[in-house]
Amino acid sequence: MDEFTIQAPAKLNLTLDVLGRREDGYHDLKMVMQSITLADRLTLRPGRAPGIQVSSSFHFLPTGEKNLAGKAAVCFYQALGRPARDLDISITKHVPVCAGMAGGSSDAAAVLRALNRLEGDPFSPEELAHVGEAVGSDVPYCVLGCTALAQGRGEVLTPLSPLPHCWVVACKPDFPVSTPELFARIDSCRIRRRPDADGLMAALEQGDLMEVARRMYNVFEDVLPERQLARVADIKNTLIQQGALGANMSGTGPTAFGLFSSQSQAQAAYDVLKQRYQEVFLAETV
Ligand code: ATP
Repeated sequence: MDEFTIQAPAKLNLTLDVLGRREDGYHDLKMVMQSITLADRLTLRPGRAPGIQVSSSFHFLPTGEKNLAGKAAVCFYQALGRPARDLDISITKHVPVCAGMAGGSSDAAAVLRALNRLEGDPFSPEELAHVGEAVGSDVPYCVLGCTALAQGRGEVLTPLSPLPHCWVVACKPDFPVSTPELFARIDSCRIRRRPDADGLMAALEQGDLMEVARRMYNVFEDVLPERQLARVADIKNTLIQQGALGANMSGTGPTAFGLFSSQSQAQAAYDVLKQRYQEVFLAETV
């Protein structure tokens, strides 16, 4: 092995529904997920020291096995039943952190795909996704990517007809969200509106981008504290005013995104949001 470089694409939630809390403490989810071209870049090299070292362009992230990329390497070799190679993993972050775009899970999935390739493809993609379950709930989806329905705690995957190609503008407002707090609110509130995931999947099957965009929704918007909801609503409204076919929040937020069939409208939306927010991204669907 010399050096191996791989991309780790961000994900968006076209829908996110929480069906209920399970006895094991996890929640049953129903989510339609989509990969986009916004991606971290990971390079794997033979380790200069024993063990698994992880460094990142975002210096606040954990290093070594506490980083999800390092944890993925440990889980890969455990599943393979072989001692782990000494590895240096370096991550160039482009996906915003704690944004609801599965940046860490995607880094972990990229390590699994890279190591599988380097070791001669011992696992099928489905088996590799299963290995990812031990790393985190979004990792199995990130191993397979594209357009998929994720159920259970996120690990029960059904590939879907691909979202017709479109442009994506995503914007992360600068307030933190607490995922455990939002799940606790979901448990204690009556959810007023739920996404029509089945309708959205039917629209995917028909290749109807407009109808997909119209049906996007995320139940966590219902339980965001009022001031945070106002910020997310402001971003969504701006995206729609600039010509987005639909807009939604991803994961537990705070990132909101819009889908555009026109590149020039997407660029204009990016420019408008960039005047007001620091973390704005223009990407395409994959
Ligand atoms: P999700 O959409 O899966 O809920 P997220 O986009 O909200 O995830 P991430 O950016 O994946 O959040 O990071 C979540 C946490 O994971 C952070 O606290 C971060 O310190 C930790 N983490 C560990 N490894 C990584 C990594 N490689 N990249 C980003 N975060 C990481």
